[in-house]
Amino acid sequence: MHEQTLLEQAQALQDGEVSSVELTQFYLNRIQAHDESLNSFVTVTGAQALAQAEAADRARSASEAGPLTGVPLAHKDIFCTRGVRTTCGSRMLDNFVSPYDATVVERLQAAGMVMLGKTNMDEFAMGSSNENSYYGPVHNPWDSERVPGGSSGGSAAAVAARLAPAATATDTGGSIRQPATFCGVTGLKPTYGRVSRFGMVAYASSLDQGGMLGVSAEDCAALLGTMAGFDSRDSTSVDHPVPDYQKELKQPVDGLSLGLPKEFFDDRLDARIRASVEEAVAAWEGQGAQLVEISLPNLPLATPAYYVIASAECSSNLARYDGVRYGHRCADPEDLEDLFCRSREEGFGAEVRRRIMIGTYALSAGYREAYYDQARRVRQLIRRDFQQAFEKVDAIAAPVSPVLPFRLGEKTQDPVAMYLIDCYTIPVNLAGLPGLSLPARPVDGLPTGVQLIGNYFDEARLLGLGAAWQRETDWHRQVPPGFA
Ligand code: GLN
Repeated sequence: MHEQTLLEQAQALQDGEVSSVELTQFYLNRIQAHDESLNSFVTVTGAQALAQAEAADRARSASEAGPLTGVPLAHKDIFCTRGVRTTCGSRMLDNFVSPYDATVVERLQAAGMVMLGKTNMDEFAMGSSNENSYYGPVHNPWDSERVPGGSSGGSAAAVAARLAPAATATDTGGSIRQPATFCGVTGLKPTYGRVSRFGMVAYASSLDQGGMLGVSAEDCAALLGTMAGFDSRDSTSVDHPVPDYQKELKQPVDGLSLGLPKEFFDDRLDARIRASVEEAVAAWEGQGAQLVEISLPNLPLATPAYYVIASAECSSNLARYDGVRYGHRCADPEDLEDLFCRSREEGFGAEVRRRIMIGTYALSAGYREAYYDQARRVRQLIRRDFQQAFEKVDAIAAPVSPVLPFRLGEKTQDPVAMYLIDCYTIPVNLAGLPGLSLPARPVDGLPTGVQLIGNYFDEARLLGLGAAWQRETDWHRQVPPGFA
């Protein structure tokens, strides 16, 4: 059953081959059997899941089921879930139970989907390896000594090991696409504003975007259709029509132009990954796409600009965790200042504290102009580079990560090396564009991926290109040996 895609399971439910209770119990059993070694879940909501599954089965017998009714999925533990702990991978929120659901959670639930639990992640979504979680690292299902990528490492590992048919995730600088690549699953980061951020714990608000990880591009299309759309509770949500993404998947590749930015194929890129990316690009060319070499000259400035902007925004967003209103509170504070200081010191891990310090520094009087304002100018240049590119091409093809999944602990002592891993995903967030990561030919048994970048609200085109390639290949169908 677990070899199936989410849409195949939806079909099996519709055809009465399986009930939602059976499907849900099947995944709960897989989680129980396998997650001890992976650590991809922080919380498993077994009883609640079975109750939701029963309700889904009742809706189906009453002919009230929608296309996704009864299909299970997992939520990244950054999305608020009413009555269920939302930790964001942090000790700060270890005891936090949200009084409301995130819009994403609400919409998927309204579509009848069943929540299996909440997935592990880097603390406050800061990281590229899932080693920054208060709940311990997640292991890559393809090689347990290696990282699954981050920050949505729990969601990616859970989908790769088929402990859930799909999972929600978020991407501030690559956290959907990079773990998708490291774990060999498909991940979509939608256009900024496409999916509501309401109830999604904030890291860097001008960059954060919710999306999903799934087995196939088609599965992502089905989920996006349910998650996307205007939400008056998120001031950056865009009121833009939501197309029928699944229908749009059938658009032909023939006649599309695909840009290959030379700055993405530089000497940082592992030659073996480059070969996998080129193979994917050649497949689209074989289907009639025209390849065009393009240039995004300001791309090399993206990573430093991102770390100034993201840290600045996080220093402001995380100021709310003061030990007073909610979250961790230290024991026996001497006075208010001691309460603030110790609660934050105890509640936040090392990487989060580092970012808060960098961000506070970058925003402080006398430095703001030199760092923060400068980074914002760079961001405009990058946005302009992409806009000029999209005057010439319909979509851009690129690598996702310059390196293969690395060993646990290999980069934890070198934060800058860790930051540079996101050099191919960060520019997309700075510009607010959609990006899709698709599994490509593995290297020595380790997954690799190819990235498609589109113009604003052009998710359908990216998913269509992804689906066209996945009809010809089966990299996305491969299940790690220990989980087959
Ligand atoms: N690795 C990047 C960071 O640590 C991106 C994380 C993300 O997209 N949430 O900021």
